[in-house]
Amino acid sequence: MSKILLSYKKGSDPSAYISALSRCGCEVQSARIGAAGICDGLLLAGGGDISPHFYNYRGPIDRIHIEDEARDRLELELIHNFMALGKPILGICRGAQLLNVALGGTLIEDIRSVYNSQTPSILHEHHMHSIHVLPKSTLHAILGSGCIVNSFHHQAVRHPGRELKITARTSDGLAEAIEHVHAPVLGVQWHPERLTDAFNHQIFADFCAWTQR
Ligand code: MN
Repeated sequence: MSKILLSYKKGSDPSAYISALSRCGCEVQSARIGAAGICDGLLLAGGGDISPHFYNYRGPIDRIHIEDEARDRLELELIHNFMALGKPILGICRGAQLLNVALGGTLIEDIRSVYNSQTPSILHEHHMHSIHVLPKSTLHAILGSGCIVNSFHHQAVRHPGRELKITARTSDGLAEAIEHVHAPVLGVQWHPERLTDAFNHQIFADFCAWTQR
């Protein structure tokens, strides 16, 4: 049985993540430093904004709601530890953004003010919307060419980090998923743990299967 290290927001309820992993036969451990050696995979849950300090953003920060720099630091260290050991990582929402930041990528600090302020089209805060998945990607093997996803974010990946590629976008071009070009590392901007369809279950099932290789 694979052991998955779960990192989630202090004080939040992790039960949806735990259920999704348990359904795939994984055991779940709470995040702590030095756990990469004893766990088989890392799941980075959603949460508040990453401190802009970690991606060198120097603009106005009035629409940024920093959650917890200590969590940022812990998770950045865990990402590097798991990647150094070649162990799988699944990043969800903030987790996808943090994966990107860990590998030197940048973020859109606030979608409404910096991305679609001129032509607001797709709404990402508490809406459902469609995504288009890049052919020949890991995500394409799971979801096919597209689907409808939930959306609870006001930030997104801007420039992908080292060896990351954007593998899903909305019709107006906003990044909705990133993948590493050769490591078992996937980040999705939506919350598959809150969706009950077979495709979103398969994201967790494949992640768990990667940890058993
Ligand atoms: Mn979205």
